[in-house]
Amino acid sequence: MARTTRPRPLDVEALFPEVIVHRRDAVRLHPRVGNPSTRESSLGGPLLWPRSQPWPRCDDDHPRTALSPPGVGSISLVPVLQIFAADVPELPFPTGMDLLQVLWCPFDHEYGYVPRPEVFWRDSSLVDVEAAPPRPTGTHNGYLPDPCVLHPERVTDYPNWDLPEGVADALEDRFEQLEEETGWSYWSHLSVSDGIKVGGYPTWTQDPFWPTCPTCNQRMDHLLTINSSEFDGESWRTWLPIEDTPATGTIWDLPYEERTRIQRPPGLMLGDMGGIYLFECLRCPDRPFAYHSDCS
Ligand SMILES: [Zn+2]
Ligand SMILES: [Zn+2]
Repeated sequence: MARTTRPRPLDVEALFPEVIVHRRDAVRLHPRVGNPSTRESSLGGPLLWPRSQPWPRCDDDHPRTALSPPGVGSISLVPVLQIFAADVPELPFPTGMDLLQVLWCPFDHEYGYVPRPEVFWRDSSLVDVEAAPPRPTGTHNGYLPDPCVLHPERVTDYPNWDLPEGVADALEDRFEQLEEETGWSYWSHLSVSDGIKVGGYPTWTQDPFWPTCPTCNQRMDHLLTINSSEFDGESWRTWLPIEDTPATGTIWDLPYEERTRIQRPPGLMLGDMGGIYLFECLRCPDRPFAYHSDCS
């Protein structure tokens, strides 16, 4: 079943033409628990992995937290995302590549105290099938996504925390006035799409942090956002898909388990309902990679 975001409840571009030049396309991935194969796009599913390439492992020193790995030794990375170009051609695939894979080490790392992601681009025609390795034990379930199939959907993002300062200052009073008059918040309901997504603007829960490319010293590009949740107590009014909307009452009237299957389908919990944002530099041929995390 496809997942469909409602049109914005108000015409953002008519109300705030200043944001039009900052508009960006995003692809909401809408993961839902399923049984994806190695030949399908997935979150937390089995990867199409070359037999000739050893499974990636993490040998870092992990900080002493409740989520330190048990014992000593290297940790197998776990599959987080696999996306084929046929499903999300909007991803910036390098020439000749048609498959993106994201894995992470499912233990806390010094940087941000979240899992440490790695990114792989591939030509799927050159890959023979390899099953996913066994899952590491001793980490918490919030770092081990349950297998989900994806339902990519194109939406439009307008920046919120990424609005240029002058524009944000100029619009602040009008945003407030609109919210008082209509109950719709530019920040929560009209600007940046929520949930796990490709492109668009990161769904920051704290101040934006755009990494600088170590090679060319310019701001890196947002590749994708992995969020703990598809919407929160405010943003659901815009970002809860039509297909998941209860026939009576609201999403918050559903029993906890039922709501969680819609709000946090992979069962991820990154920080306190935070996210991990992945970046690459598209200017540099070796595509430097960086990530940043925050929590609410
Ligand atoms: Zn690690
Ligand atoms: Zn660069």
